Amino acid sequence: MKIAMLARNPNLYSHRRLVEAAEQRGHEIDILNTLRVNLNITSHRPEAYYNGEKLGPYDAVIPRIGASITFYGLAVLRQFEMMSVWPLNESVAIGRSRDKLRSMQLLAKAGLGLPVTAFAHDPKQAAEVIRMVGGAPVVIKLLEGTQGIGVVLGETEKSAKSVIEAFRGANVNILVQEFIKEAGGSDIRALVVGGKVVAAMKRTGAAGDFRSNLHRGGSAELVKITPEERSTAVRAAKRMGLNVCGVDMLRSNHGPVIMEVNSSPGLEGIEKATGKDIAGRIIEFIEASYQPGKTATKGK
Ligand code: ADP
Ligand code: GLU
Repeated sequence: MKIAMLARNPNLYSHRRLVEAAEQRGHEIDILNTLRVNLNITSHRPEAYYNGEKLGPYDAVIPRIGASITFYGLAVLRQFEMMSVWPLNESVAIGRSRDKLRSMQLLAKAGLGLPVTAFAHDPKQAAEVIRMVGGAPVVIKLLEGTQGIGVVLGETEKSAKSVIEAFRGANVNILVQEFIKEAGGSDIRALVVGGKVVAAMKRTGAAGDFRSNLHRGGSAELVKITPEERSTAVRAAKRMGLNVCGVDMLRSNHGPVIMEVNSSPGLEGIEKATGKDIAGRIIEFIEASYQPGKTATKGK
């Protein structure tokens, strides 16, 4: 196969591993800096250019689009889809997962477990929103946050209200969630590839931090997940329409609750914690699945 990988930094562990796994299996793979791909939007003949040269043809494209360049990155991916290149994850599905509020609405409607979550636009509604999720303590999250930045614990009603008011004053969108205390500062990341959980790890936050993000000093270990956690992860991936994703769940008293579905999951933590060749599994999934033009949405 000839594969394109949309990624800004070729040196990241995940990107290096995907290249290695593709080359080991005899494929040709080009890393394209997403922001340097130029799009020619001409009727009937979508084209993409890189360093002055027309791109393609490719059999498959691996999107590794960072959250900060979602807008342009998805436009580039959509262009590849319109050029009939098979995407590992579709642009529409990535768009769904990048919007935390939209994701939670879709997952909740599909009957999947989530922390009780509320959202309101009007700062005067802070008390009401806190009440809707069962009162303090609550977790307050920036809708645009990643890697645990912008996730705050409001321990009392008073502190929760002032955090909400401060975020609102900064004119950013937030959601307010029930605090799952019994998770004990740990979460479960299940990695789904092609409708199956291929690896899972438990992440635990640095001492005193309720956030378990590895970027915030947390640590990861291999974990055996329950059948309910497995089916929750698989159903979440299916609902979002993602072939590859990391589903982050908390172990609550009422079963697994989903915090987030990540469409560009990092491979370093999970490969090191589980000893598994996840990059290889992803390339094998592409080999078995790619078909020109065969995507559900083709970017529409
Ligand atoms: P990000 O997308 O920035 O990583 P998350 O929503 O995943 O933000 O939250 C970061 C971390 O905070 C999670 O990994 C988890 O450990 C903790 N956390 C998030 N929401 C809750 C919650 N409702 N109850 C308890 N802990 C939470
Ligand atoms: N390694 C990141 C964290 O836990 C997760 C990023 C990702 O999965 O894309 O902070």
